[in-house]
Amino acid sequence: MQIIKINATHPEPLKIRIAANVIRSGGLVAFPTETVYGLGAAVLDAAAVREIFKVKKRPFTDPLIVHIAAKQDYFSLADETSKLAERFMERFWPGPLTLIAKKSSIVPEIVTAGLNTVAIRMPAHKIALSLIKTVGMPVAAPSANLFGRPSPTTAQHVSDDFADKLELIIDGGGTTIGVESTVLDLTAIPPQILRPGGITREEIEETIGGKVTLFSAQKHGNLSGKTSVPSPGMMNTHYAPRAKLIFVEGDCTSVVRKVQKLADSFGQQGKKVVIMAMDESISNYNGFSVRSFGKRDDPKSCAYNLFSVLRSIDKEETDIIIAESVVSDGLGLAVVDRLRKAATAIF
Ligand code: AMP
Ligand code: MG
Repeated sequence: MQIIKINATHPEPLKIRIAANVIRSGGLVAFPTETVYGLGAAVLDAAAVREIFKVKKRPFTDPLIVHIAAKQDYFSLADETSKLAERFMERFWPGPLTLIAKKSSIVPEIVTAGLNTVAIRMPAHKIALSLIKTVGMPVAAPSANLFGRPSPTTAQHVSDDFADKLELIIDGGGTTIGVESTVLDLTAIPPQILRPGGITREEIEETIGGKVTLFSAQKHGNLSGKTSVPSPGMMNTHYAPRAKLIFVEGDCTSVVRKVQKLADSFGQQGKKVVIMAMDESISNYNGFSVRSFGKRDDPKSCAYNLFSVLRSIDKEETDIIIAESVVSDGLGLAVVDRLRKAATAIF
């Protein structure tokens, strides 16, 4: 396996060409985007796309997002378009928004897990854009983590998950957003957010001039295999650290009380406990092992730190992580979604 460092603001063309050639010849390349690292293959190369599923241990029922470098590629991947889709592209691309559209016949079935829709996004990252451009076709890329694990926000996270199983990892430094893109289904009426992410619900509703619905995997139970739900990849246990994660929701005072009680009781059972808390409440947990993952009034900071904190606590052989709830405004909605899906218990 090779890791090449590429400058995130001025990607060196020669190095991009090396990476693009790996993809063009049927290989996989891990690369940074503004959300998390992706694991890419040429979209029309069904065998290479199959390899993504194998390496990630991702079920073939979980469709991939197709990454593009120019808006016109949307029109070759999607079978139809709408004024609304164009409004979203205009406002948010390149950026952390994935649009679901009816798929055109050129998109291999394996990419969309047999669905008649396709997920498309244009990432706002110079390395990702110049890589896709140099490959000369869109790149199918899920997050570059083992299936079910916290997503990778650094090249080190990618290599921690895959060791030498990947031909090439591009190291373009840490990602800036830290959680994945928002997945918005424009084929639903009204449009539905299938996964909250880097573009907020508030921004989407403002663009539509009305409400969107929010898909909740919880309501559908533990999804596995082929289902009739709109987004087969949205399973309950996802993004999960190796330690058991307990997620505590509620108002500040009751959260702190519950966290203290849980930490006490697991500590007495001889478990190694780490608390993930907001900066503002750390002082409530004297005597416990605590990690900050952001500021209460700044959900962006929580999104930015979430996966890297989960991964670093895991490295310390922790038994139990107890995470405080986050305000679910703005990017907080995506953070709460990931913590709920990563949790083995919610209080
Ligand atoms: P990942 O790239 O690992 O962040 O996951 C992408 C997610 O996008 C999948 O888990 C799906 O839930 C969702 N997705 C991709 N394609 C579609 C589609 N055609 N319809 C609905 N959801 C999709
Ligand atoms: Mg993923």
